[in-house]
Amino acid sequence: MSEIKVIDKVFEPSITAAQIQKRVSELAVQINRDMVAQNPLFLAVLNGSFMFVADLYRHITIESEISFVKLASYDGTSSTGVVNEVIGLNKDIKGRNIVIVEDIIDTGFTMQQMLKTLAEHHPASIRICTLLQKPDKLQVPIKADYVAFNIPNLFVVGYGLDYDQQGRNLPAIYVLKED
Ligand code: 5GP
Ligand code: MG
Repeated sequence: MSEIKVIDKVFEPSITAAQIQKRVSELAVQINRDMVAQNPLFLAVLNGSFMFVADLYRHITIESEISFVKLASYDGTSSTGVVNEVIGLNKDIKGRNIVIVEDIIDTGFTMQQMLKTLAEHHPASIRICTLLQKPDKLQVPIKADYVAFNIPNLFVVGYGLDYDQQGRNLPAIYVLKED
């Protein structure tokens, strides 16, 4: 693997496609074991998680369902600033065992908002599965149950993650080259 350019920035290889596939199948094995007979509902957060969840869900062998949600960010009129609204939550999640599937947990604010919104619908349980997590950036007490990779506090693209909407198609993960 070599350096790539996305729009105006240079990125260098970070996690190979093979490493990703290995970890994704390992996480699926854990989930299959932990959630057997719970008929979990996988809730994938678009857009970033689309590639991760497609690969992960292929390895899920237990009885389960999948649905997709999106977080719409808009500037709130109040002083609280940006508000995230969960859209597409059209399945009844009451009493369900949920597995949220995310691309990355950075500060954790997005996930915190997600947990709060889902809790209002009274699921039986909520687990978090994330492809990436930046432990040094976490600002809220969130504990992901399944983490494929912990990464340093640097900007990454690929495997669903974008830089200005580009780069989501890359099968590996690349990190912004510091200059
Ligand atoms: P948080 O609310 O946890 O700070 O932010 C999570 C969101 O920030 C992710 O869903 C993603 O959209 C974006 N994000 C955070 N770090 C990165 C990164 O390194 N690369 C990309 N492409 N997006 C990131
Ligand atoms: Mg995301």
